[in-house]
Amino acid sequence: MSLTRTTCPYCGVGCGVLAGVDGTIKGDPDHPANFGRLCSKGAALGETIDLEGRLLHPKVNGADTDWDTALDLVAQKFSAAIAEHGPESVAFYASGQLLTEDYYVANKLMKGFIGAANIDTNSRLCMASSVAGHKRAFGTDTVPGTYADLEQADLIVLVGSNLAWCHPVLYQRIAAAKDARPDMRIVNIDPRRTATTDLADTHLQIAPDGDIALFNGLLAHLVDGGKLDATFTGNHVNGVAEAISAARASNTADTGLTPHELNAFFTLWAQTEKVVTIYSQGVNQSSCGTDKVNAILNCHLATGRIGRAGAGPFSVTGQPNAMGGREVGGLANMLANHLELDNADHRQVVQDFWDSPTICTKPGLKAVDLFEACANGQIKALWVISTNPAVSLPDSDRVAAAIAKVQFVVTSDIMEKTDTNDLAHVLLPATGWGEKDGTVTNSERRISRQRAFLPAPGSARPDWEILSDVAARMGFSEAFDYQKPADIFAEYVALDTAASHIARDLDLSIFADADYAGLIPTQWPRNDHRFFVDGRFYHPDGKARMIAVTAPILSKPRFTLNTGRNRDQWHTMTRTGKSPRLGAHLAEPYVEVNPVDATDLGAAPGSLIAVESIYGRTLLRALITPRVAQGQLFAPMHWTRQRTTAGIVNSVTAPLTDPFSGQPALKSCTVTAQVYRAK
Ligand code: SF4
Repeated sequence: MSLTRTTCPYCGVGCGVLAGVDGTIKGDPDHPANFGRLCSKGAALGETIDLEGRLLHPKVNGADTDWDTALDLVAQKFSAAIAEHGPESVAFYASGQLLTEDYYVANKLMKGFIGAANIDTNSRLCMASSVAGHKRAFGTDTVPGTYADLEQADLIVLVGSNLAWCHPVLYQRIAAAKDARPDMRIVNIDPRRTATTDLADTHLQIAPDGDIALFNGLLAHLVDGGKLDATFTGNHVNGVAEAISAARASNTADTGLTPHELNAFFTLWAQTEKVVTIYSQGVNQSSCGTDKVNAILNCHLATGRIGRAGAGPFSVTGQPNAMGGREVGGLANMLANHLELDNADHRQVVQDFWDSPTICTKPGLKAVDLFEACANGQIKALWVISTNPAVSLPDSDRVAAAIAKVQFVVTSDIMEKTDTNDLAHVLLPATGWGEKDGTVTNSERRISRQRAFLPAPGSARPDWEILSDVAARMGFSEAFDYQKPADIFAEYVALDTAASHIARDLDLSIFADADYAGLIPTQWPRNDHRFFVDGRFYHPDGKARMIAVTAPILSKPRFTLNTGRNRDQWHTMTRTGKSPRLGAHLAEPYVEVNPVDATDLGAAPGSLIAVESIYGRTLLRALITPRVAQGQLFAPMHWTRQRTTAGIVNSVTAPLTDPFSGQPALKSCTVTAQVYRAK
């Protein structure tokens, strides 16, 4: 049986997969992200491709219908809302599960033809703070290094990242590198002890949101120890004195770490030239996430440890195509191809290229604000594409109520029953992994193909095609006359050529004559390229900026809830929930509780704990473990209302966001906890 060369649809590592129609799944030995490795989720992909629960035909108000009826209705409702209330009255909420071609078409329709920027994505929950931090420091959204840097580093600092569970193959690559080079040092900075900690030489059990105080302390230590690279900063970096001054004002006691722990970490970082700092949701998902990112970037810029082999900051993306989405502007504050929405010249380039009747002139609503606009009646028509915001957003009961208030809601999904689909007027069946064709970009800027190896079930269609058909019905048929994903990819590359006179990091010229069908995994701007090796950044003066960041004043509630993910589940379990093997890992909703707190609460292993905030309540099984510090709780977010009647975790989390990125603070929510039922 022949196997199809494709890409895993789960995390941002972007592993190559060889897949067969009988469910055979193998790691692709030739893919440069994984070299044949797969994690538990990737290896179980063959167990998740059955048709149980699939949405097979369009539905209007719960009844099966044909595509023409459904698409006519969607186009008519969106057009009517725009005509009566203006373009700001409609919104798309998309997903890092979408392929780049899907994202490109959705972004083009909203920003160039509807004329608003109300398209945001669940990637807002994933890496928006890194995007904002990159743009502040580098002048564009650039991941400087490559996966090879992680293997070449002498010191890896993992901040707010349970790589072992959330990016397992990258973790495996680092573990193998450490095995080969035992001198490699790994420091894990996390309020919680995780599976990743097992690989680390040192675990710094930092206070929640103590990261700015820590990296500001490190910056001051580096300067005092003579480690400032005056040549590099003098030639290539602005804002140095201001950032150092702000760093000195921080109090490292706010980290919750001992002076001995701090000094050992600072000394190790200062003495190691080849240091890579990896960070993900523990940094990004915070009300000060962007400042945390810049506190990290400041240390690399101050020492010139960026753009070199084995040295640099490295933001890993959560979703399989979070990176591709940001490349084509699938966020409410971006244009396409790393062009700036607030720059009139950039807008003109895009509008001319699209030959569009309009172009949005101001940022749209970011995820949390978008659903608040649903609640307050601004949004009259909403299209949710391949995601489940009624479960995944903070204060999710309010989000569900907000969606229910919107006059017209359409969802495109592979599954029929989801918490969000239950609130929609129209359901459109989309093709899923293994059934659709397109590209994704992983955390190291590598574009790989997802390829279909299964027939589309029922009358399901790819998202780009559904969006294009609605666009045509809204009067834009010529601009959306795509016949296949390759046409869209070619247009995306051509837009890059049209904008080539504008200084940006994104450079797709390597794909200009690409054989789309046979596309091999390739990085932009070219394979193995590291940015900033020449000290050239993308602010108008060509320099980077260190940003003065101030550590937040931390409150000390009785309990802080940290949320996250399990090793064997993906988001709201749409696919991974189908595999008994994956479900057996951690079978029911739980909360990690420190043993001292458990004693205080009178909780035994397996007791039901009521975790409550001013937003809502959930009941969770107590998992008593010293992995969490006293006063902290941890709960995974996977279980939906359809899988538990005891309240979902995001009913409890607060809709607080970072002021620069709009990313929700899902890692530190003030809650109460009490025993609901002893075991
Ligand atoms: Fe898929 Fe990520 Fe696992 Fe690779 S590490 S197989 S991309 S889930």
